[in-house]
Amino acid sequence: MSLTSAATEVTVAVEAARELERAVEKFGPMASPHEGWAVIREELDELWEHVKANTGRGPEARKEAIQVAAMALRYVFDLCEEAP
Ligand SMILES: [Mg+2]
Repeated sequence: MSLTSAATEVTVAVEAARELERAVEKFGPMASPHEGWAVIREELDELWEHVKANTGRGPEARKEAIQVAAMALRYVFDLCEEAP
């Protein structure tokens, strides 16, 4: 992995972490696996709309993809047991 691609990956991870922080401040923790699944699905559906519209590589699709990542992280932090 090059330094440039590593820096890009860190940047994307930081974006997802900021989105996670924003969502936790706004909505609090996920209350159940059903809620967590639904929230991830909602963000995934929003990304899908861009894919279907052939705008899946654009800036709005990127935002949705970051939100999918953030909500998956939120699921892990709020709902999952510690890793063995
Ligand atoms: Mg969204």
